[in-house]
Amino acid sequence: MTAGNYFTDIFKVAKSIAIGMGITMRYFIQHKKNLATVQYPRERDFIPPRHRGIHYLETEKCVMCWKCSEICPVECIYIEGTRGADGPLQGGYRGQKATLSKFTVDYTVCIFCGLCEEPCPPKCIYLGPGFDYHATDRTLMEKNLLTDEVYTEEDEKFVLWAREENERLISEKKQREADEKAKAALAKAAQGAASPPK
Ligand code: SF4
Ligand code: SF4
Repeated sequence: MTAGNYFTDIFKVAKSIAIGMGITMRYFIQHKKNLATVQYPRERDFIPPRHRGIHYLETEKCVMCWKCSEICPVECIYIEGTRGADGPLQGGYRGQKATLSKFTVDYTVCIFCGLCEEPCPPKCIYLGPGFDYHATDRTLMEKNLLTDEVYTEEDEKFVLWAREENERLISEKKQREADEKAKAALAKAAQGAASPPK
């Protein structure tokens, strides 16, 4: 490399830095009164109405049809509970036709596509204006839409209890139905034995 080329390169670098700094200063002066950034969290920027942020669920309307979780491309919606107005859960979240024990979204996986909103019959799940959802641990990124809080170990204990309770109630119901059937069969047989032969 000749001395001439060496100094030409230095000049070019200095020129490009000066141009870059000039653009920065122009923006700094021109936009000082109209800044493109805000001092979050003290200030909040305008959120457009179509913004797809943190989910919101109108629990009382949910009919537990699983359509939102079925359409989710990354399968990050988890729903558990019972169907029917007089579902067995105590302390669960009762909608018109469902009692939910679990309704969570895993934000380590969700891509905020909004597809889950589309098939919902009562239109009770939607992506709201919220965007601030952070945690220091991946396990805390599962949001409980029933309480609008992080899904905790306590929530998990409740879901495990609800599962067992449902199984117990289902097996009790089956037993009751089987007993009734057996009783009806016995009554029919007794009626047959009591009637005089033709
Ligand atoms: S926004 Fe998309 S990825 Fe997130 S839960 Fe809904 S369907 Fe799934
Ligand atoms: S699609 Fe709507 S009604 Fe059905 S489970 Fe999801 S939120 Fe509930």
